[in-house]
Amino acid sequence: MHIVVCVKQVPDTKIIKINPKTNTLDRRSAPAILNPYDAHAVQEAVKIKKMLGKGTISVLSMGPPQATAVIKKSIEIGADRGFLISDRAFAGADTLATSYALSKALERISKENPVDLIICGKHAIDGDTGQVGPGIARRLDIPPVTNVIEVSELNESESTVLLKRKITSGYELILAQVPCLLTVEKEINSIEYSPMPNMIKAARYEPVIWSVNDLEDVDRTQLGLKGSPTIVGKMFTPPKPEGGKRLEGNADDQVKQLMELLSDKKELFAAQ
Ligand SMILES: Cc1cc2nc3c(=O)[nH]c(=O)nc-3n(C[C@H](O)[C@H](O)[C@H](O)COP(=O)(O)OP(=O)(O)OC[C@H]3O[C@@H](n4cnc5c(N)ncnc54)[C@H](O)[C@@H]3O)c2cc1C
Repeated sequence: MHIVVCVKQVPDTKIIKINPKTNTLDRRSAPAILNPYDAHAVQEAVKIKKMLGKGTISVLSMGPPQATAVIKKSIEIGADRGFLISDRAFAGADTLATSYALSKALERISKENPVDLIICGKHAIDGDTGQVGPGIARRLDIPPVTNVIEVSELNESESTVLLKRKITSGYELILAQVPCLLTVEKEINSIEYSPMPNMIKAARYEPVIWSVNDLEDVDRTQLGLKGSPTIVGKMFTPPKPEGGKRLEGNADDQVKQLMELLSDKKELFAAQ
């Protein structure tokens, strides 16, 4: 089984600051990390490989040359090899152009070693759209199964896999035909400590780097800014919520104050 995990380098959003003058992310204010959902995606691939007792795990990223760091991190978790597509032609891509470029790289990887399973994170913690995974599946014409929380019963002879996915009202079990694409939630597994041999391999590993010229049948008008119909209207920091009002006195007093407050705001409820 050949599993490809798509991994994205993202700024650590717990630390990143927003420039109050330009209202844009100050990317220098936070370290770049492997998107946390993608770390779980790689860990799940490792689990599947262990379950089957064989297989190859490739990771794929699109980004600037320094994105090789997230490929090395994935090797540490247990991936076998990694590919980075990096070229000025990819710059300024929205999710449509990103999924196009990644699908072209996946076609090239698949030509050398057919891909059975593609795993993505549920979303990237910076862009946060969750569109890239389903976008890749659509372009490769394979089924996407989103919000997966368990992978089991991989039947190689039948080419099927049993998936449990989270939905608002509970969960759903899906018997999917492979090849297919999954996007995974964090709760699918816990990240294990990397064994020393993986860490040594990662430190020495040189990912394969492809430019746009290394991909076949690429329509350049669908890449980068040119291939991105999304227009960012405005970016702003949401206003800080005002502090709440503390009700004082005994229970009767507090109910009276609450009723007054609610009746002051009654037009808000009427509008619903
Ligand atoms: C007009 C415009 C210009 C932009 N220009 C740039 C730019 O120059 N540079 C830039 O970094 N961003 C740019 N962005 C942001 C870029 O569109 C998103 O970062 C990217 O498309 C991924 O979307 P997302 O973060 O919502 O990912 P999601 O769809 O939330 O990600 C889901 C999953 O898809 C996979 N995935 C997503 N992105 C990648 C990737 N790059 N490599 C491998 N796997 C991936 C991962 O598995 C991830 O967990 C731009 C956006 C717009 C609208």
